[in-house]
Amino acid sequence: MPTNRRTNVPQAGRLNRRTLLKRGATLGGGFVGMLTPGGLAALAETPPRTRSMREVNRRVRPLSCDTMVALPDATTTGTTVLGKNSDRPVFDCQPLIHFPRQQHAIDSTIKLEYRTIPQVEQTYATIGSSPYWCWGYEEGVNEFGVAIGNEAIFTKTFTDAVASSKAGKPPELGLLGMDLLRLGLERGQRAREALHAITGLVERYGQWGSGVPGMDHETGGYDNSYIIADGKEAWILETVGQRWVAKRVTHGVAAISNQPSIRTQWDLASHDLADYAIDKGWWPKAKKDDFDFARAYIDLRTPLQLSQLRVQRSHQLLCQKENGDVSPQWVMRILRDHYEDTFLGGPNFNAALPDFLTLCMHSSPAEFTWGNTASSAVFILPDDSKRLAQMWWTPVTPCTGLYLPVFAAASRLPEVLTTAGLEGKTVTAPPQAKRDAFSEKSYWWLFRDLLDTIKGDETGAEFSKRQRIARTAFNRLEQNWMVGSKEVEKQAILQENTAILDGFTKHCVDQALATVNRLRKSKGS
Ligand SMILES: [Zn+2]
Repeated sequence: MPTNRRTNVPQAGRLNRRTLLKRGATLGGGFVGMLTPGGLAALAETPPRTRSMREVNRRVRPLSCDTMVALPDATTTGTTVLGKNSDRPVFDCQPLIHFPRQQHAIDSTIKLEYRTIPQVEQTYATIGSSPYWCWGYEEGVNEFGVAIGNEAIFTKTFTDAVASSKAGKPPELGLLGMDLLRLGLERGQRAREALHAITGLVERYGQWGSGVPGMDHETGGYDNSYIIADGKEAWILETVGQRWVAKRVTHGVAAISNQPSIRTQWDLASHDLADYAIDKGWWPKAKKDDFDFARAYIDLRTPLQLSQLRVQRSHQLLCQKENGDVSPQWVMRILRDHYEDTFLGGPNFNAALPDFLTLCMHSSPAEFTWGNTASSAVFILPDDSKRLAQMWWTPVTPCTGLYLPVFAAASRLPEVLTTAGLEGKTVTAPPQAKRDAFSEKSYWWLFRDLLDTIKGDETGAEFSKRQRIARTAFNRLEQNWMVGSKEVEKQAILQENTAILDGFTKHCVDQALATVNRLRKSKGS
């Protein structure tokens, strides 16, 4: 049985980037309509013949995401490219946040939603898409070009925790997947080092606790999986309670969604991964040598069609270009997908009135998605001193959004990006978090308002016409920025000046604001 082997992680050795960072130090996670575990328990208690589809549908909640990666041999940029869609409730504003590299006093602590944990001596600079109530990130990148996206996965360990909670013996509250993601970025100079930071914290604290604002722990909690990537390799990490398993990806493409995916082959794992499943009766002792992680730990009472369809779709689209033709723009295209041009025919009416759970997620009057894609990002991760890591980020559904270029070596972000709605940006335990609401000062809310404007009404009556107009304007900006970012990258390295990177992002934000406000006012005409 593979064990958790700790390895020495090399220090980041990118001279130019380090030089920049040194100067910069002074500058500067619809879905799937998942059945709720509470709902599952109630359904389990109900005689099967009385379970109608209506009842099943009433018990769905939005906890989905999609994460995918292409390694340097598969991409046009010769870099790793990581993509992530974060699907969340429609009011779950996600500002883009930046924290510089920081030194911390010995014995200092971090106050998270549910736990206060020891801080490390030094945290690395990070940029991440952070729900308005949350300490952590749904996706983000650090100064060394490590990027991470996470997923909710539904597992027997989580169902077990819900059962204990219902029996009056809830597990101790732990760390949210989003917190673990940011902690990994703050503590890892390479993907493997971030992986070890996260797995150490999973083993120590577990992950019980609601990750959805307004929901209690039993309905809003989930186990997490991740793709952790740098310019050389990626790791698929899947966690179950306080245990975990990880698989290294060194070439080609990979995608994950809301289900455990690692089967019989992995590179690192908790020492008792199989024994625990055997003890719980989830895997036969006689077949220990053939232990299948996903088969043992997956919660089959959550329908696999909810996540399987999307992960197969992202994988299919990645594979179309896996022989060196995966571009950042292709990953953006995948993240904007609604099964167009497939046998499913795309949404029958339009994307804003989905028939299925799609990669680019939209709320549905039928409530089976129960939310929107709340943010989307494409990371360009070089392993080359002449390149800089980039995060192309858009709030809300990427099919009505605009991927904005942000460099991982940036020293500050425009305030409008970092601003939430009327609730403000806080660290609040989700059961106590109130719904956020529109503010003109928030970039995220302006794009959420644009989505509503483009839809016209709940049924998306105006969507097809207005989305085309928005896409024409946004596609032009994205193309210009893609060209401009190459020159900016070159100049910033040449002049060893991160202010050039900040200035470029600020310029793009100004253009984006002018365009989004024009589209909002003109109602797409
Ligand atoms: Zn869409």
